[in-house]
Amino acid sequence: MKNVAVVGAGLMGRLSALSLHRKGLNVTLFDKDDKKGELSAARAAGGLLTPLGESLTSESWIVEMGFASLSMWPEFLQTLDDWVFFEQTGAVVVAHTQDSGDMHRFNRHLLTHWPQYPGQVLNREQLQQLEPQLSRSFQQGLYLPQEGQIGNRQLFKALQHQLEKEGVQWHCQHPVDDVHQLQQSFDLVIDCRGVGASKQIKDLRGVRGELFQLLAPEVKLSRPIRLMHPRYQLYIAPKPNHHYVVGATEIESDDNSPMTVRSALELLSAAYSVHAGFAEATIREHVSQCRPSFNDNNPQIRVADSLIQVNGLYRHGFLLAPMILDHLMQVVDRMAGAPGVSDSNYLNHFSEGLTFAQLIAGVKS
Ligand SMILES: Cc1cc2nc3c(=O)[nH]c(=O)nc-3n(C[C@H](O)[C@H](O)[C@H](O)COP(=O)(O)OP(=O)(O)OC[C@H]3O[C@@H](n4cnc5c(N)ncnc54)[C@H](O)[C@@H]3O)c2cc1C
Repeated sequence: MKNVAVVGAGLMGRLSALSLHRKGLNVTLFDKDDKKGELSAARAAGGLLTPLGESLTSESWIVEMGFASLSMWPEFLQTLDDWVFFEQTGAVVVAHTQDSGDMHRFNRHLLTHWPQYPGQVLNREQLQQLEPQLSRSFQQGLYLPQEGQIGNRQLFKALQHQLEKEGVQWHCQHPVDDVHQLQQSFDLVIDCRGVGASKQIKDLRGVRGELFQLLAPEVKLSRPIRLMHPRYQLYIAPKPNHHYVVGATEIESDDNSPMTVRSALELLSAAYSVHAGFAEATIREHVSQCRPSFNDNNPQIRVADSLIQVNGLYRHGFLLAPMILDHLMQVVDRMAGAPGVSDSNYLNHFSEGLTFAQLIAGVKS
């Protein structure tokens, strides 16, 4: 196996193309967009790496994979020439009085299911010590020291530079509607089109997400703040140079038209209630995009002959990417019959379209 096509230069496409190129394969990357990637979910994202924050609504193996990936990011980032913002200084969960029951429930859930990652319940004074500028209206908080975040747009750009520097062929503005056609001219095709593959992958859908990019020089928060909310998982995430991401909504729709007034009101009121200084912030961007999601909201790698589909990363793309990439490389090694890699039942697991949970269980046994 020598010539590989990677279709889609979003998060998984860029990571896969670089890793395959570094394995010595001749990689060609195709995307319908330009290199800035404004049509991707990856560029729209908030870059939160918060496995515990996801644990209420995700299966436990997602949380485990999230922690494993968190520990893999720093080593991967060192292989890039450009600096990418990454930190693991924890996240703070707060709730307004009317939602405080949700926060207590969340804490009980963590104590029951994730005692190995202990959080810390904070009273008002402790909360003020940790985040002095947080609104004084919060009487209690929960500090989760293991949570992290990444500069997703910096990563996106850094991957672009790295792919260019290492000489990977990249065909921009080159939509691929039928990946099977590429199978005729490439030894292996990796489909990373995200929501763009939904015409060919019937159980794939888009889940709309909206967020704001704000510039707020008057606000000084040092770690992501999660505000309990009845409908969404709302985060206010500080990025370098007084930039903040406020997001994200989650709506069962594949519509990626501009943000609605309702979402704008909800997101900005949430930010203002966390810190009044957001009133003077400037709106740099409002973003709406769809997250590629299977029915169970779990990611999958599907293998059929010389086609591998990597999709369904839902709201966990950055959270899980290093682990998914690692599995993908193992699949490619087995397909290529790489020396020292035993075939076992590994590939069969994927060809049967099993989820990662089943795969991990299958490989362990
Ligand atoms: C608002 C929002 C907030 C998010 N926040 C987070 C977060 O905080 N943490 C986290 O872990 N995840 C987050 N996510 C999820 C994360 O962004 C996705 O899981 C991830 O980007 C999916 O990666 P992907 O490579 O599968 O798809 P994408 O990143 O969407 O890339 C798909 C690529 O395929 C290209 N393409 C599509 N169709 C075609 C075609 N026919 N031919 C050629 N190219 C094509 C597109 O142009 C695009 O470049 C968020 C997503 C959204 C929308």
